[in-house]
Amino acid sequence: MKITRVEAIPFKIPYKTPLKWGLTGYLEAADHVLVRVHTDAGVVGVAEATPRPTIYGESQVSILHAIREWFAPMIIGMDPGHTEKVWTKFESIHWNPTAKGAIDLALYDAVARARGVPLWEMLGGNADRLPVSWMLGMRSIPEMVQEAVEMRGRGFRAFKVKVGIDPEKDVQVIQALRENLGAEVLLYADANMAYSVSTAVRTLRRMEGLGLAFVEEPVPAWDQKGRLKVAKAISIPIMGDESVFTPHDVAREIELGAIGIISIKTPRTGYTLSLKIVNMAETAGIPCLMGTQAETGVGTLASAHFGAARRNVSYPSEISFFLSLKDDLLAEPIALEEGFIKLPNRPGNGAILDDEKIRKYRMD
Ligand code: MG
Repeated sequence: MKITRVEAIPFKIPYKTPLKWGLTGYLEAADHVLVRVHTDAGVVGVAEATPRPTIYGESQVSILHAIREWFAPMIIGMDPGHTEKVWTKFESIHWNPTAKGAIDLALYDAVARARGVPLWEMLGGNADRLPVSWMLGMRSIPEMVQEAVEMRGRGFRAFKVKVGIDPEKDVQVIQALRENLGAEVLLYADANMAYSVSTAVRTLRRMEGLGLAFVEEPVPAWDQKGRLKVAKAISIPIMGDESVFTPHDVAREIELGAIGIISIKTPRTGYTLSLKIVNMAETAGIPCLMGTQAETGVGTLASAHFGAARRNVSYPSEISFFLSLKDDLLAEPIALEEGFIKLPNRPGNGAILDDEKIRKYRMD
């Protein structure tokens, strides 16, 4: 099988409510890129690239350029299964993680479709479903509690809480959520690197007492000494996200010893680099979850297959964000039951695209 063509289609789907995180993060719509890898066998692999200028420095336009001008010409004529060789070529161009990641995901999808197996089976076969959490963005405490109670009613048993701007309010939010949701629900906080080391230690010690399970990126990712200081001062694990963008980052963080959980994001590491990360983490005794890049259904399926396939992805994953979109490109919505994504029993990632919706939301 040979790669014959790589399509990059920009699209825009509005969110139901704007998304805010950390000090500067703000988004009103998914301005993403649909990637389709065509092959001479007739199968087409599909994936989604998620531009995050504030995180990776990529934009929708830069991703189109990177795919059309750099990465597609590199791989035309190659076998889609030769992903190690593909990454050797990709590495001749620095960074551009979600452009590379999306192509990699589409290559695996094409191979799985050609073989007639679902990706969760090809990637390890641990399970065909994945528990997911619900993310609470920063709003007033009563609004956050109300949203959490409503989503628990829809089956969610794990909640990620965005914190970092106002430490006193952050503690009150965790307390209010614990009181209203009960002791059984898993609660963790994501500070998106917004605390100082001393604020992190002081604030997290209070949150531990409220049964916070772990904390994501309390201090700036570059501050390795600070992260280690926080880790030693608290009893709950730190989850790495911004500090573990690449397999090399993961190797460094395992050596440092500050991180106890890793957030894997297939949009930025594809399957090829995500496999390196999950295996390193497992052998170091570090469990993982699938983090969200606010993907639409296509990206969500890609991530869900990976998480379901690997036993070391053992915490509830964050990939429920598709519920916050006004629409999707999928013809068949993702099955979400009692807090689990149930993967479609179809080859590849199982995504069936709705051509009418692609026409409606494409931006070029
Ligand atoms: Mg994060």
